Amino acid sequence: MEVFIYRTLDVEEDAFAALLKGANGPLRHLRFSEGPFLTLEAVTEVVRAACNGQGNLETKAIFGVIKEIRKRADLAPDTVIVLLSRVRHAGNWFSIGEGNSHYMHADDWNLFMATSFRLPVTFLLASNIIMRGMYDTLEELTYRAHSDARGCIMDLCGHKQEISLKLRTADACPECMGRIRSRIRSGHLDANVAIDCFRVMDRVRRDLMFRRRWRLDPEPGRLTISGYGQQMDLPGRRISMSPIQRALYQFFLLHPEGVRLVDLRDEHHIRRLVQLYQVMANKGTLAEQATVIRGVAEDVDGKLQQHLSKMRRAFREALGFREAGLYTVNGDPGEPYRIRLYRQFVNWTDREGQPVDCGPITEIT
Ligand SMILES: [Zn+2]
Repeated sequence: MEVFIYRTLDVEEDAFAALLKGANGPLRHLRFSEGPFLTLEAVTEVVRAACNGQGNLETKAIFGVIKEIRKRADLAPDTVIVLLSRVRHAGNWFSIGEGNSHYMHADDWNLFMATSFRLPVTFLLASNIIMRGMYDTLEELTYRAHSDARGCIMDLCGHKQEISLKLRTADACPECMGRIRSRIRSGHLDANVAIDCFRVMDRVRRDLMFRRRWRLDPEPGRLTISGYGQQMDLPGRRISMSPIQRALYQFFLLHPEGVRLVDLRDEHHIRRLVQLYQVMANKGTLAEQATVIRGVAEDVDGKLQQHLSKMRRAFREALGFREAGLYTVNGDPGEPYRIRLYRQFVNWTDREGQPVDCGPITEIT
């Protein structure tokens, strides 16, 4: 089963790509992909035209928009379409769905959950697919929704903060489980798809639990760099970065005082970067490797910024926005960029297992 997600221009490329990657990861019988045959501009235009005077979307307008998208993209009525936008529903519902037409709001999540829209929307994608199979109409779904929150996907959540119980259980109550089973038996819901959906919700739950436990610890989690590939790990999580990004990260670890991005192109900094990169580089000759990392340091085609933003995303995907800030390379334009983590929380050993000294252990002001 394939689900097409159409987004408006205000849903950023990067975050959307991370959403698709994360959501599709554990799936076998279900696939979420960017909706075909319509540009972001076209989708955005259709949404804008449907807004009321306050710039919001009434329920009817949402289904009207999806109908228009379906028509313009020439998709069959049984194709599942999701509209993802930062334009809000007039009643502030963050998700609404009937049959094969669904809407999800991509904004304001971090006010309640210290996370971008990625995890909650991933959860909604999965839970909406299950609910779509449970009930045929929005009326019936609304009627059956639980006004008393019981940690079930059918809990009626009027506000974004109320969804956190659902996310924590990622489950259906016995009554709804019975309904899901009977709808599977009667052919309204594919068992494999339902299992896939629970798998996705489980993944979101685990990610959020990991972050919650993380926040309980008064000390920052130790960052370990070790082994042949000089991989980076936090307790219980690998931070996946390319060799170029790991080299850049190590460079900033070695400079607790910070370095201005324009100064990266200084010869002695480039020499250091080349050295660090060549330890991990897995393609090209030594000369090619030196050229590649020099290009990054000189920000050719905006490569430096791209890598820095991918490095930030790697930490954010593991820890959430707020906690990631301690580990990421940050700075104001024109000012030194640095990693705020005190270096006593870094365990770095080189390929031979020898400790690497990365500066003073106390705070740099
Ligand atoms: Zn229930």
